[in-house]
Amino acid sequence: MRRSMRTLRPLPAVALLALSVASCPVNPATGERQLILISERQEIEMGREGAKQVEAVIGLYDDPDLQAYVDQIGQELAAKSERPGLPWSFKVVDDPVVNAFALPGGFIYVTRGILGHFNSEAELAAVVGHEIGHVTARHSAEQLSRAQVAQLGVGVGAVFVPEIAQYSDFLNLGLNLMFLKFSRDDERQADDLGLRYMSRGSYDLREMVDVFTMLGQVGEAAGGSGLPSWLSTHPDPGERRERMERAIAEAGGPSAGTVGRDRYLQRIDGIVFGENPRQGFFRGATFLHPDLEFQFEFPTDWQMQNMPHAVAGLSPQEDAIIQLTLAESSSVDAAARSFLSQSGIRAGSTSSQSVNGLPARWAYFGATTQNGSELRGLVVFLGHEGRVYQILGYTIADRMGTYDAVFQRSLASFDRLTDPAALSVQPRRIEVLRLDRAMTLEEFAERHPSTVPTTTLALINGWDEGAAIPVGERLKRVVGGVMPEQ
Ligand SMILES: [Zn+2]
Repeated sequence: MRRSMRTLRPLPAVALLALSVASCPVNPATGERQLILISERQEIEMGREGAKQVEAVIGLYDDPDLQAYVDQIGQELAAKSERPGLPWSFKVVDDPVVNAFALPGGFIYVTRGILGHFNSEAELAAVVGHEIGHVTARHSAEQLSRAQVAQLGVGVGAVFVPEIAQYSDFLNLGLNLMFLKFSRDDERQADDLGLRYMSRGSYDLREMVDVFTMLGQVGEAAGGSGLPSWLSTHPDPGERRERMERAIAEAGGPSAGTVGRDRYLQRIDGIVFGENPRQGFFRGATFLHPDLEFQFEFPTDWQMQNMPHAVAGLSPQEDAIIQLTLAESSSVDAAARSFLSQSGIRAGSTSSQSVNGLPARWAYFGATTQNGSELRGLVVFLGHEGRVYQILGYTIADRMGTYDAVFQRSLASFDRLTDPAALSVQPRRIEVLRLDRAMTLEEFAERHPSTVPTTTLALINGWDEGAAIPVGERLKRVVGGVMPEQ
């Protein structure tokens, strides 16, 4: 996980040397000798730190039953791995993208997006097993060791002002860069280990092949742009599918293991599909947040990004940022005091001009980054529905003249959301239905309409368009989530 790597301190050189002398052991999962410069304890600490960040930045999916189910499947597989003693955890993140990832130490995440695309427990086990494989083979520990060697003598340049460091990091990273990129060999090894753990868990191995078929289709549907990160960081699914087919044949063919189709589909019935507009959506440059009941206008032509803990915009010249977050303080005064008292921040003129009738505290400020560059900005703290919001506009010092009016206008646009259509918006959800007679996907879509095209239904159900689907089969459709007109 890159983000955690950046913020983690490198080990002191002395400790590192001692470790490199001490360990070049044989990995129990892969049988290979491995140069690991970090101890298992450090590996777990790094993973735990990374897990906190993942959960703060992406957020967990709010469904305790589904979380418990995924954790149970994962725990059973991990218990049969070569590293059963790690503090394994398996969680669902609230992310519509088709993705899964492992942090060092056994912290494994699947997205609600990938869960909506699986059609059996064995498919879930295949991907979870693959991620367990990255951990047991210590791929991240190996990468982190390399990264630490690179960091020695270079030093880590962190921005001095935490508020600003936090955000500029996100803009640079994007979510897909939160994950370590493993080598193709690492990926093949994780596939092999995943197959091993599936087999130990008595799952039907052919389901892993279906996962690669699905991933290949997701990649095709995404086209060249917006490729899900799990695909862009992993080798071609077609090639992996063929490798796995060979591996299964060499192992004497698939034994009749667990598929768990019906029980899996019952578990994901009702899961949110695609972006969740209740967590905020854009109408042009206006950001509307139904759950928190506010709206806010970014300058037109800016590039915006909505994250669980912040929504932000970047100017077309990429030299200014406007960022809206919740402040932790209980009052606008306390929030303003706490912001302006940070080291590295210099307070300028302040004002108590209210914003659309909401209590507000404004302040100009200057900040010096660790590399010595000067920033200037305008911040406003606003009280709304018992919460305090912080909206920050900042740029490099000599551009403040250009952006001052832009910041003022945008920051003063924060208002209550009163549009009933926007307030009542709902996400799309998957609904699982059992066929009372054989039919094609097209007939299914006609009888049980979806708010996604039939091509999407084909993808998430693993059925080709035109194929005759037998009676009794469970199929997913997607309902709701029609966005209100302006
Ligand atoms: Zn992988």
